Amino acid sequence: MSTDLARQRCYNHAHREAAARCPACRRYYCRECVIEHESRLLCAACVAAGAAREERREKRHGWPGAVAGAMLGVFLAWAFFFIIGWGLLSLPSPTHATEVWNERAAHD
Ligand SMILES: [Zn+2]
Ligand SMILES: [Zn+2]
Repeated sequence: MSTDLARQRCYNHAHREAAARCPACRRYYCRECVIEHESRLLCAACVAAGAAREERREKRHGWPGAVAGAMLGVFLAWAFFFIIGWGLLSLPSPTHATEVWNERAAHD
C-alpha cells in the first residue's frame, strides 16, 4: 500500500512524490497540496468544495421552516374555503330534502 503511494505523483506537481491520497476525490497529492480538515487529509479543492457544501447546508437550514409556513398558509386558506364551500353546499340540501319529503307526504 505504501509502495503504491510512493509510486504515485502529486496531481498538481507531476515531479513530486505523493504524500497522501485525498479520500474525497481519490487523487494523490504531495504534502503541500493536502490540508488537514476535520482530522482528515483532504486536497485543497475538496476542502473548498466541502466548505461550500457546508455553507449551502447552513443556508438551507431555514428553508424547511419557510416551506412549512407557506404550506400551513395554503392549508389554512384551503381549509377556510373548504369549510365555507361545504357550508354553502350542505345548507340548502336538508331543506330541499325536507321539501321533497313533504311533497311526497302530501301526495300520500
Ligand atoms: Zn480531493
Ligand atoms: Zn502538490
